[in-house]
Amino acid sequence: MKKLIVLYCLLISAIAISQNAEVVSPDGKLKLKVAVENGNPIYSVTYNNKGILENSPLGLITNEGDFTKNMSFVESTLGKVDKSYEQEKIKQSSINYKANTLKFTIVNTDKKQISILFQVSNNDIAFRYELPIWGETMACVVEKEATGYKFPSQTTTFLSSMMKSMTGFARTAPSYESGYTSDSPMETNTAEDGYVFPALFHVGENGWALLSETGVSSLYCGSHLSKYRNGIYSVEYPNIKNNNGFGSTGAQIGLPGVTPWRTITVGETLKPIVETTIPFSVVEPLYEASQDYTYGRGSWSWIVWQDNSMNYEDQVKYIDLAAAMNFEYILIDAWWDKNIGYDRMKELIQYAKSKGVDVFLWYNSNGSANDAFQTPKDKMNTAITRKKEMKWLKEAGVKGLKVDFFGGDKQETMRLYEDILSDANDYGLMIIFHGATLPRGWERMYPNFVGSEAVTASEMLIFSQDVRNKEAFYATLHPFIRNSVASMEFGGVLLNKFLNKGNEKGQKRLTTDAFQLATSVLFQNPVQMFGLTPNNLEDVPAFELDFIRNVPTTWDETVFIDGYPGKYSVVARRHNQKWYIAGVNAEETAKTLKLKLPMLTGGKATLYNDDKNKNPLMEDVKISKKGEVSITIQPNGGFVLTN
Ligand code: CA
Repeated sequence: MKKLIVLYCLLISAIAISQNAEVVSPDGKLKLKVAVENGNPIYSVTYNNKGILENSPLGLITNEGDFTKNMSFVESTLGKVDKSYEQEKIKQSSINYKANTLKFTIVNTDKKQISILFQVSNNDIAFRYELPIWGETMACVVEKEATGYKFPSQTTTFLSSMMKSMTGFARTAPSYESGYTSDSPMETNTAEDGYVFPALFHVGENGWALLSETGVSSLYCGSHLSKYRNGIYSVEYPNIKNNNGFGSTGAQIGLPGVTPWRTITVGETLKPIVETTIPFSVVEPLYEASQDYTYGRGSWSWIVWQDNSMNYEDQVKYIDLAAAMNFEYILIDAWWDKNIGYDRMKELIQYAKSKGVDVFLWYNSNGSANDAFQTPKDKMNTAITRKKEMKWLKEAGVKGLKVDFFGGDKQETMRLYEDILSDANDYGLMIIFHGATLPRGWERMYPNFVGSEAVTASEMLIFSQDVRNKEAFYATLHPFIRNSVASMEFGGVLLNKFLNKGNEKGQKRLTTDAFQLATSVLFQNPVQMFGLTPNNLEDVPAFELDFIRNVPTTWDETVFIDGYPGKYSVVARRHNQKWYIAGVNAEETAKTLKLKLPMLTGGKATLYNDDKNKNPLMEDVKISKKGEVSITIQPNGGFVLTN
């Protein structure tokens, strides 16, 4: 009898120290287990029964209590989500999101509960913390998050280090512009300030995982990954030194409240990574569009002709260029207020309108966050000046703004992003952010948001030999990483041989014309500012100009075709009935690919490509009845195939 009682007690204590639950994707392949083990909330992930994440920590530390240890299981609830929506400015226009859900509720020793809501669709996990009202407590500061990611030891990484706060040009960092490395072992990832989202992991034979976050509004800070510590990457809140050290790290939330979604996209191949729509599927529009916004392409003098072109005469040349290219827009960059002035800008906008071209204007987001000195400044940082300015902009007929040089990822900066977007919608203005953070679900949350930089963008091709050397390398990464989770306002398609106004010597472009055309499809953003210059109308083959005249900037479908990040990438995008298949090659030798293109089976297509001497060519090709075609991509070259 005594023996039996002991056994019974052991059984009870086993239940008490480990309570677990699991949820699987609708197709049964992606499985998430969650448990409280010795008081610590943990989770793990497998795909097709192969390990993607080993037991990894969960939990929050708030000013109202610690929810990372001494926790007990309360209950778990299963559910389902099935929703369909339309979204015209991301990689796909019509989306159906089906997920199985698990709400896992735990309690700390103060009897305060939190829940973690997991949503598991076929290739994506999204989860967030949900905090109820605790007694009379309705305000809470989340100071830290324990959420971590423990990958198996064979994993290699594709990461971009977080820029150090208050460094770089006019102390404007961090701005997500440090570039990614490829296939680095985890042990080498010791950047002091961690790594930006998104972050790609190759879990050897087991598959791939892309980590990011979405749904960050004014109600939270932006997060990133910590450096690799004790075998784990953790969710880290902004460095306290953002915004010149002013403002808190962490988040101030009302209760009941939620954190943003942590997302993990998983696949045996890279296909689910390229095609994921999870950043948009778990968020909702935060307000209605005040009107139908028109997306499209623009000319942009600053990128090649730089500050000296910020004058009336040169802007007329770029308006004429936009008109000659059937572009919808011109972007007029910094210093327009000083060099052209508000009155003549009105005339310039009228001139543009007479040519069928609409105008985007540049603004400094500052303020007080850093030393960015370009003007107009002090116009976007308070509601009072912003609304006054936007009233003028609307009356002058401006259609969009590019707002630059933000202070970091703290909650107060997320408020500024949201306030600019919300006010701009009231005045019919679209918004592009530069010198900025990663947009986290914003294409869907904010109807007038049309793209952010947050990448080693075209400006660095002008400024840095190292970036020119790596242009093709970086381009092959974007469809799998940065551009997979959000629009990317890169400012590319540079057809000058030398990336300056003279176009005779200096910053030599190392990639081919076909490569540049390919990036217009490979890089997705609903408004694309292209780097063409007026001389390109004369010195570039007519078929290249015709291609750019017709290339869309919005897509109904995006399909992974082939590639490996850092080596080469091939992506297909559809606009209405027309397919564009684009590829680039960052390797040192020409690459002949036998591509499977079921969408073009048995048909004819037009190929834009490079010949052996890297001269551009356009030719007709036939796609076999098996839907196959063989294409050679030159090193630093590219192609586009279109039906
Ligand atoms: Ca920049």
